[in-house]
Amino acid sequence: MGAYKIALLPGDGIGPEVMKEALKVLKAVEGALADLRFQCREYPIGARCYLEKGSDLPAETMKACKESDAILFGSAGLPDVKYADGTEIAPQLTLRFTLDLYAGIRPIKKYPGIRPVLAGDPPIDYVILRENTEGLYASRGGGVRVGNELAVDNMVITRKGTERIVQYAFRLAQKRKGASADGRKRVTCVDKANVLRSMAFFREVFDRVAASFPGIEAEHTYVDAMTLYMVQRPRWFDVVVMENMFGDILSDLAAGTIGGMGVAPSADVGDTYGLFQPSHGSAPDIAGKGIANPVAQILSAALMLDWLGEKKGDPAAQRGAQAIEAAIAEVLKDPRYHPPDLGGKAPTGAVGDAVAVKVAGAK
Ligand code: NAD
Repeated sequence: MGAYKIALLPGDGIGPEVMKEALKVLKAVEGALADLRFQCREYPIGARCYLEKGSDLPAETMKACKESDAILFGSAGLPDVKYADGTEIAPQLTLRFTLDLYAGIRPIKKYPGIRPVLAGDPPIDYVILRENTEGLYASRGGGVRVGNELAVDNMVITRKGTERIVQYAFRLAQKRKGASADGRKRVTCVDKANVLRSMAFFREVFDRVAASFPGIEAEHTYVDAMTLYMVQRPRWFDVVVMENMFGDILSDLAAGTIGGMGVAPSADVGDTYGLFQPSHGSAPDIAGKGIANPVAQILSAALMLDWLGEKKGDPAAQRGAQAIEAAIAEVLKDPRYHPPDLGGKAPTGAVGDAVAVKVAGAK
């Protein structure tokens, strides 16, 4: 294969700090795998960019995203930088809608070596699939506010949007090894069908799609109960699918059960484009201190290689993804490489260095 063009969008806060480590690791992948090359170029995005250029997502950045093979994103937004309607700068949402990145894939995996969060330290390994282009966030920028008295945002659920994310969920379950509790392939629909018509519709579409995947167990859970089950019996889950805002909220809870935001990667993909970024935000409370955990960003780069490998039929890219994941698993076993969010003292750069060294040794 030729070189992959990667658009780098480091963004705000800790985004540039963790992106630097992901780039170190991609360099190590190039060194280890002769068939794999990356042409990485950085573009402006985010709250700082909005203050400096008057736009949080300049046209040149959007153009580069469309012309690249993949987009590697850090994080964007700062709590004090807001649009006139009081909402925050969030170009990641704009990119998801504009590039139709409908599948928000958030692997929730607890790596050995990270101190247990849940009692008994269960082996957690499931995927949250968040619908990324409709749901409650479809109202973004389009809700109604009447003076100082009233504001309304609508939940948008379409048949097409629901069918494609649910199909994605079942196809993903086909490829996985099943739930860690019993090895059974299972897709869980998370909704609020007992209260909202939009959610009853989401469930109805889910059931229709589920019927065409007879080899995979299908079940439903209300979102409030789901928060309980994610803590009480996370091993039960394999792939869980839900609307946009539920997915946003539950992924932070899920990250909490595996060690925190610093170890939770994500992929936002559609039928044409793919964007890869940690689930976390710009973490202004720790930005500039050199203590951010780069693991989520590095694992997001691995998800990027896996996606490129599948999309382009390139086994080298998939080997690169496996090498990164194996290196992360090894490094996290050693508490010397745990940054403060995991209870250790390792600075951001030391974690990236350790992962890069392991990757460099991969064949
Ligand atoms: P956050 O994810 O930035 O931080 C939540 C907590 O997790 C903080 O205590 C932070 O220190 C910690 N944390 C996050 N990433 C970490 C890492 N890699 N290593 C160690 N600790 C880490 O969420 P927030 O504080 O709600 O949001 C901060 C800003 O980020 C806001 O402006 C928000 O809008 C934006 N945001 C952006 C994205 C994105 O770019 N996709 C996602 C969420 C929030």
